[in-house]
Amino acid sequence: MTELPTEKRRERALNILNRVFGYPDFRGEQAEIIDRVVSGGDAVVLMPTGGGKSLCFQIPALLRDGVGVVISPLIALMHDQVDALQAVGIRAGFLNSTQSPPERRVVERDFLRGELDLLYIAPERLNSGNTLETLQRAKISLFAIDEAHCVSQWGHDFRPDYLTLNSLVDEWPGVPRIALTATATEATRSEIIERLSLEKAEVFVSSFDRPNITYRIVNKSSVRTQLVSFITKEHPGEAGIVYGLSRNTVEKTAEYLRGAGVNALAYHAGMDPRERSRVQSQFLREEGIVIVATIAFGMGIDKPDVRFVAHIDLPKSVEGYYQETGRAGRDGLPSEAWLAYGLQDVVQQRRMIEQSTGDFAHKRAQTLHLDAMLALCETTECRRRGLLAYFGERQDKPCGNCDTCTSPPEVWDGTVPAQKLLSTVHRLKNERNQRFGAGQIIDILRGKENARSAQSRHQELSTWGIGADLSDQQWRSIVRQLLARQLLAAHGDYGVLILTEGSVEVLSGRLSVPLRHDPLRVTRPERRAPTQAPVVADLNEEQRVMFESLRAWRAAEARAQGLPAYIVFNDATLRACATEAPQTLTELRGISGVGDQKLARYGEAVLSVLAGRNPEISSSLED
Ligand code: ADP
Ligand code: ZN
Repeated sequence: MTELPTEKRRERALNILNRVFGYPDFRGEQAEIIDRVVSGGDAVVLMPTGGGKSLCFQIPALLRDGVGVVISPLIALMHDQVDALQAVGIRAGFLNSTQSPPERRVVERDFLRGELDLLYIAPERLNSGNTLETLQRAKISLFAIDEAHCVSQWGHDFRPDYLTLNSLVDEWPGVPRIALTATATEATRSEIIERLSLEKAEVFVSSFDRPNITYRIVNKSSVRTQLVSFITKEHPGEAGIVYGLSRNTVEKTAEYLRGAGVNALAYHAGMDPRERSRVQSQFLREEGIVIVATIAFGMGIDKPDVRFVAHIDLPKSVEGYYQETGRAGRDGLPSEAWLAYGLQDVVQQRRMIEQSTGDFAHKRAQTLHLDAMLALCETTECRRRGLLAYFGERQDKPCGNCDTCTSPPEVWDGTVPAQKLLSTVHRLKNERNQRFGAGQIIDILRGKENARSAQSRHQELSTWGIGADLSDQQWRSIVRQLLARQLLAAHGDYGVLILTEGSVEVLSGRLSVPLRHDPLRVTRPERRAPTQAPVVADLNEEQRVMFESLRAWRAAEARAQGLPAYIVFNDATLRACATEAPQTLTELRGISGVGDQKLARYGEAVLSVLAGRNPEISSSLED
């Protein structure tokens, strides 16, 4: 292949894309990346989740002589990944700790006989037993290092076994290596290049924008009710992930959702590993499951049809938030990132940092992360623009697909109310050496009597009742925004409010305080009726019925074969079948996602469904 002219090489790559995967065109820089590796060069690929990284090593592995070896930490997913490849006719196998020695031997035998195109290996497997020797005994076409950010010792996905991967250069000097990750930061990128000795690699950086994801951040009031309404009204019957901070929140929320008729399951690190993998596998295999999880859930979840990711607690950083929301909509269809955020989140997260055991530098770094996240929550400008700017990417126009774009929040001058509030905090401290949390301060401002105000004679304060013109809700919003901007601080277990350097600026009138008007209820971006799932929103009645019939056929087919439904066909492909209504195999072959193998296996069945007949389920034919 190396000796072929570029044009010929590219033609062959495109041919495989069409025939094997059934896709008409390459996306983004896929063609360039593939050509680089096919011609024997190294590559570092930074692409967002769902960008299409896998094809960047799968196609070169098919075009080059020998077996492509993929190093991946995602042991739980290897089985499905190999199934998905076999479903399009690629010869693939995997080696990891979940297999018995005889199972491993079968794979090794196939490998040595040259009967594999791709071999997935867990990093710890590579460093154990005689795996390296076995690999020496057959021809290797390339090494793909997936989730390459696992080599970063500062990241939360660090895997010590990744550090030994640079030895591959010495053992296989002529074999191209391609490292891939969806982690965007500059620091991670340089660490990957250095630790994997990829100085000579060409670096491909894609845009990290995910245009099919709608971003939405709502004001938290009663979060479980809000969540139920979000799921049942806007994503009924769809698959989604709900992230919470603690195990307890996760379990309680899953239970609450089940009570409201949502098919919800909990997932967190405290669960038995077998139970965890059962939940994950159910999420991948069945349709319409909502997983309520801590951040332990997710790396490499490559289910393409996750329609929403909801956060019920504030994420600790923009990186984390973006990685988690990125798990929605890998198939490119409309999906949603929803976050409910309120005063309590700010207080809680500031306290967690304050009480953490890390040193000063560590706390400082965490504070910067949190501040960036809060700025995103409180912004009155396009959220996507803010997100991309955080990753060093500029977008000229507002996106039109986030809540601040579709219903721009009003800004009002909050300087005077802020001064009233700060001065109350100041007086309590100075005149009486008292400190209180937000609730009591707001009651004082609104002149609302309670046991504590009577006991502490708060009625005598000069600020008593001077804020009666604003509601409790409005005051909470002001406190939250002041905390978010460090114009006020909350301290200790009870979140008592204290002044900061910024507070002094506000009190002296040197700093004005523009505030965001929290909409009473954020209406979702228009464009569709609220009870319609986004994937079918712009289909007509007939097409929708078709789509549902195809989904029902797919579910039966997947069940009969014991496969996740998306391996049969993904939603994007079924949707295209419903809208384009192909009537012949040739027409069906023209739909994105229908390659040779799937056409041969499912073509007739899909045409039957489209023609309103009862299709055969293929594995029952084989039995
Ligand atoms: P990543 O690993 O970057 O998260 P994947 O490789 O899993 O992304 O690809 C995401 C989805 O996009 C998959 O369903 C894949 O089949 C699809 N895809 C990738 N490349 C193309 C393409 N050129 N045309 C159409 N679909 C594609
Ligand atoms: Zn926007």
